[in-house]
Amino acid sequence: MSSGSDFKSVKERVFGELGLYRQLSGLYDGQWLAGEGRRHVSAYSPINGEWLADVAVGDEEDYDRMMERAWLAFGEWSKVPAPKRGEVIRAIGDRLRAYLDSLGLLISLEVGKTPVEGKGEVQEMIDIGDFAVGLSRQLYGSTMASERPDHRLYEQWHPLGAVGVITAFNFPCAPWSWNALIAAVIGNVVVWKPSPDAALTAIATTNIVNEVLDEEGLPPLFFLAVDGAGEIGRRMSEDPRLPLLSFTGSVQTGKEVAAKAAARLGRTVLELGGNNAAIVTPDADLDIALKGVAFGALATAGQRCTTTRRLILHESLYDSFLPRLVDVYKEARVGDPLDPGVLVGPLIRRDAVGSYCSAIDRAIGEGARVLAGNSVLTLDGLEGGNYVQPTLMEGMRADSQVICEETFAPILYVVGYRDLDEAFAIHNRVPQGLSSAIFSNNLREVEAFLSVVGSDCGLANVNTGTAGAEIGGAFGGEKETGGGRESGSDAWKAYARRQTVTINYGRDLPLSQGLTFDVDQDGGG
Ligand code: NAD
Repeated sequence: MSSGSDFKSVKERVFGELGLYRQLSGLYDGQWLAGEGRRHVSAYSPINGEWLADVAVGDEEDYDRMMERAWLAFGEWSKVPAPKRGEVIRAIGDRLRAYLDSLGLLISLEVGKTPVEGKGEVQEMIDIGDFAVGLSRQLYGSTMASERPDHRLYEQWHPLGAVGVITAFNFPCAPWSWNALIAAVIGNVVVWKPSPDAALTAIATTNIVNEVLDEEGLPPLFFLAVDGAGEIGRRMSEDPRLPLLSFTGSVQTGKEVAAKAAARLGRTVLELGGNNAAIVTPDADLDIALKGVAFGALATAGQRCTTTRRLILHESLYDSFLPRLVDVYKEARVGDPLDPGVLVGPLIRRDAVGSYCSAIDRAIGEGARVLAGNSVLTLDGLEGGNYVQPTLMEGMRADSQVICEETFAPILYVVGYRDLDEAFAIHNRVPQGLSSAIFSNNLREVEAFLSVVGSDCGLANVNTGTAGAEIGGAFGGEKETGGGRESGSDAWKAYARRQTVTINYGRDLPLSQGLTFDVDQDGGG
């Protein structure tokens, strides 16, 4: 177990390398807002409850000034040719590479991920940066055959202006980059409101990327406004100066954001909660299935939108597969994520521990039995941290209320099935539709899972778990997950406005659909 002094020395090093202080500014409008006389929010580490820093937050006036500056910057940036914008994103990616280690560790300190996962998140920013560089030369529009002689018909894509990005605590910077680096390469500027539980990572990231722009003599493109209780988020939802708002967070908050944005006919990209299941069939490679389910359920202490929350297990596997999974649960080390042997770090806040306990109690009330876990841990030297034992339960009905909800904690419900139709019915019964997985080497089972009667989710995985998407594909989910798509593939189109262009280069004015509209050219009577 890492001692308190490890925490201190990691913190000193990381804060030093990233230029963070104990008093920080949480609003960047081209300059960092001066902190004196401002309201502050405090950042604490979920590892041991230690205070990390105070962050000054801006008021309404500061927000308005930031929006004005964002639109001014858009005027300049949108005129830079896209491949040149790509070169700037390349420089940003290189700078992020230089900070991979320290930024990854800051994520560990601030939200409790293991350093491997923290660095993985920074790597995602670097990867999407590379993707954006390639995209800068591939912002293609289609050319269509015109039905009229001497006419050209095609479409082009323009940037929208200022794009709003609101992010959740559990991925402090990767989802920002999936939005921001793609939006920027198209010519947009970006206004970011991070989770108050991950404000320091947002401040450090904003510092790094704008430093590059400053060196290149470019205007600031990446604006930041930290808030305390969603007040800036609410303002952004209602603000017509943000033609697009990308929101990552819970279904509950997402519904509020979506309603406000819809009331002003603003566009949204909604990336909301998941309730992801893995189906393990008798034809599965059980070693692969065990690893896939364990990583999906335990990584990030069950605090991923793609966490495996339901295991749909063929009844014939109860005696062979479940005991092995119980062993994994019993052996998974919970503790200080800075300790290299630890697999499961803390939950983000005390109230998340409360949600863990109440979900388990409700599941027991609905007939479930605990196979492993069900305890809140107080660890030596980490008394202020939020640690729970990952919990494995079975025996409740697949449509029980608690199983249909996303509890953001490491709880895995096991539900048995007899035939594949039943497995799909169980799988698709929940209101969310983010990620899904099947473990099977049977072609017929796999193809059925991928067919229209199989998984109803945005992400479908075969012989790999529900968690751990790559940036190259479009990421997002259906139903209450919100329907948004971001990151790779053609998700970039969400950050652009499509313009259909018709050019007549002839000497006549033929109309579409063969219409005639004769105007008397002699002036008539
Ligand atoms: P949350 O909904 O509590 O907060 C998300 C963001 O919304 C934060 O920045 C928060 O400050 C802000 N916010 C709060 N109230 C607001 C309001 N009224 N208007 C506008 N913004 C407001 O979520 P969380 O606890 O930070 O994150 C966990 C949730 O996010 C889980 O449900 C998880 O599944 C989801 N999530 C989804 C994805 C995805 O890609 N689908 C990715 C990560 C997290």
